[in-house]
Amino acid sequence: MILTSVELAYLAATVLFILSLHWMSGPTTARRGVSAGVTAMVIAVVATYAKPEVSQGADMTRFLWVIIPIALAIWPGIWLSLIPLTAVPQRTALSHAFGGLAAGLVGTAEYFHWLSSAPEALTTFRMAAIVTEIILGYLTFTGSLIAAAKLQEVKWIPQRPWVYRGQRVVNLLAFATAVSLGVALVVSPSAAWSPWAFGAIIVLALNFGWMLVMPIGGADMPTVIAILNAYAGLAAVAMGFVLDNRLLITAGALDGSSGLILSIIMCRAMNRSFTNVLFGAFGSVQQQADGGEQQVYRPDTTESAAQLMEQAGFVVIVPGYGMAVAQAQHKVRELYDQLHQRGIRVKFAIHPVAGRMPGHMNVLLAEAEIPYDDLVELDEINSEMPQCDVCLVVGANDVVNPAARTDRSSPIFGMPIIDADKARAVYAVKRSKRPGFAGIDNQLYFLDKTWMLFGDAKAVVGEVVKHLTPSSTH
Ligand code: NDP
Repeated sequence: MILTSVELAYLAATVLFILSLHWMSGPTTARRGVSAGVTAMVIAVVATYAKPEVSQGADMTRFLWVIIPIALAIWPGIWLSLIPLTAVPQRTALSHAFGGLAAGLVGTAEYFHWLSSAPEALTTFRMAAIVTEIILGYLTFTGSLIAAAKLQEVKWIPQRPWVYRGQRVVNLLAFATAVSLGVALVVSPSAAWSPWAFGAIIVLALNFGWMLVMPIGGADMPTVIAILNAYAGLAAVAMGFVLDNRLLITAGALDGSSGLILSIIMCRAMNRSFTNVLFGAFGSVQQQADGGEQQVYRPDTTESAAQLMEQAGFVVIVPGYGMAVAQAQHKVRELYDQLHQRGIRVKFAIHPVAGRMPGHMNVLLAEAEIPYDDLVELDEINSEMPQCDVCLVVGANDVVNPAARTDRSSPIFGMPIIDADKARAVYAVKRSKRPGFAGIDNQLYFLDKTWMLFGDAKAVVGEVVKHLTPSSTH
């Protein structure tokens, strides 16, 4: 069998896509992974345009129809790539929305194209692929837009789960009606009523997408994004079958399965199930301190914090979302260096869902060139926490909330946490008394051994560094 140049290009792109995912899983090879992914995509686009059925007989007008949209689309792409690291989850949601919309539009165009030119081409298999493509594509579009808006904390979209009585039945009915109409279309793709049924499926899928995401909120949103990633990937696989394009099938399958794996990792790290994420209305409960008794925070000065840390033998730093917001990683690095020079053992406790995406803390700390060996994962660091003299919590909240271990009524009960409360002393850096992402109070902050350092993490950690005694033995 002799491969054509297009098939060879597709093979090269497939290999590069797989290598790209492999390389992106490690911080030292991540950049190479991104370059491999970009190269694969360029090869895929050029090779597809070079396919005889696409390029044969192509005139200037057809060429411009391809080039102009690409040239225009580059600009929003560049703008999206410039957003801060803290906004990556919502940016990712927007990308899925565009992917879903593209799949939906291609499915719609193909259906009406074949219906008007060659209805016999709408075979059972192809029709089933088109129906799958439009249902998944359009629901991913509206679902991802709502997810992005919630994560961006857009004012007119409630951040907390939006629930009402009978919601699940309404959602299920909408989905079941779309699927039933889809089955009817697969059986009779070109009946007089078929285009109307097709339109009804689009409307139902668009509605189902936002209805699916509105009841989800709080800390479950990033997981929902990974699930929508899986849907977008599956929509691309269906599109690959519709267009008979093997590379699209492979790329879609890689995209879909990585989304699924990511959502499984997130669910495990939060000790939640898929059904719980999709139907659990997590984050809807705003807990108050029991018994009406006002719990008191004990604020302290950065000077005292510096003194205590200087006297410590073992310091554990727990970074969280607040460190990302404040971009405090470089100040944290300075503190790490200073303590290290004083012979103090310093480790970073990395929770798998600290921040807003898996690996968020690793990326920030790697950017500040903190040695990878000093980043310790949850289970390992927890066994050492009773020996820790000072635990410095930098903008972390839910991932150090002991309620996850002790309070059965807490929405985060069962989520593995970093046992900061087992350290001999705790300093917690945050700006206010507001709760963390899950919307619940944190008993860690009210313990006798905990002192609060209120303020922006970058400024506070910088102050601590300034107050370290310069004369200490280096
Ligand atoms: P949280 O969002 O729970 O808490 C962050 C804390 O940082 C807040 O208490 C906030 O308090 C503080 N903060 C914000 N900005 C600043 C600043 N500039 N300076 C100092 N402090 C600041 O973060 P965690 O990392 O502890 O937890 C992550 C949450 O995200 C978990 O609920 C997790 O389940 C969820 N999640 C994460 C995923 C992931 O992949 N990483 C995936 C799914 C969910 P204040 O406003 O008072 O400053």
